[in-house]
Amino acid sequence: MIKVEHLTKKFGNNEVLSDISTEIKKGEVVSIIGPSGSGKSTFLRCINLLEKPTDGKIVVNNQELTDPKTNIMKAREQIGMVFQHFHLFPHLSVLDNLTYAPMKVRKESKLAAQEKAMDLLAKVGLSDKADAYPSSLSGGQKQRVAIARALAMEPELMLFDEPTSALDPEMVKEVLDVMKDLAHSGMTMAVVTHEMGFAREVADRVLFLDHGVLVEEGEPTSFFDAPKTERAASFLEKIL
Ligand code: ADP
Ligand code: MG
Repeated sequence: MIKVEHLTKKFGNNEVLSDISTEIKKGEVVSIIGPSGSGKSTFLRCINLLEKPTDGKIVVNNQELTDPKTNIMKAREQIGMVFQHFHLFPHLSVLDNLTYAPMKVRKESKLAAQEKAMDLLAKVGLSDKADAYPSSLSGGQKQRVAIARALAMEPELMLFDEPTSALDPEMVKEVLDVMKDLAHSGMTMAVVTHEMGFAREVADRVLFLDHGVLVEEGEPTSFFDAPKTERAASFLEKIL
């Protein structure tokens, strides 16, 4: 589903991603972990070309996004993204948040878009909030709406950038539960997270970034219980 080949990203002469190569298969859930500033967000943003790679190749669903001939807007429609700070449309109801892009971009009828939206709201446990405005929701509810909104575009893959980091602790679980359901439904997911429980339990693979280098990748159990590198071991020691 995703192929990253020799990805390098520089901001000026600050190299924040160095020659990263990896693959994410269809249906796979990959957790990206690493210290603050290690390049995790930049890595995700390069996958959907929100950041333009300085070097290297990004292929999503057999389409090379780094090819200048690729229609990036079109290609991005198949990639859902969920951010730390939700980014809901504040002036639209929850229902309209979910139907806006499907109607505008996918040219779905209002009725079809609303039916799908209600279905997704049921999946994230927010059927009763269809007519509410984002400002009246808790952080956990906002993030579940943001996930449902991304799913309304029927993406082939979902990127999550610290989706629970801005939440009060009691709201983390409700969001992780929605993500777990999604993982079990077969969605391809790349998740930057500090929730090691989620990474261990749900991810098929963990990528560990440090200073822009993909230092280690592997199965969660072996990564957490027996990291192969000193850098991963010392990171885990600090957080676990
Ligand atoms: P992480 O998500 O792991 O905390 P980031 O990908 O946000 O790390 O940042 C990696 C490095 O890139 C940091 O040193 C950060 O300051 C730098 N950086 C990120 N975005 C920009 C930008 N738009 N312009 C300049 N530097 C940036
Ligand atoms: Mg980040």
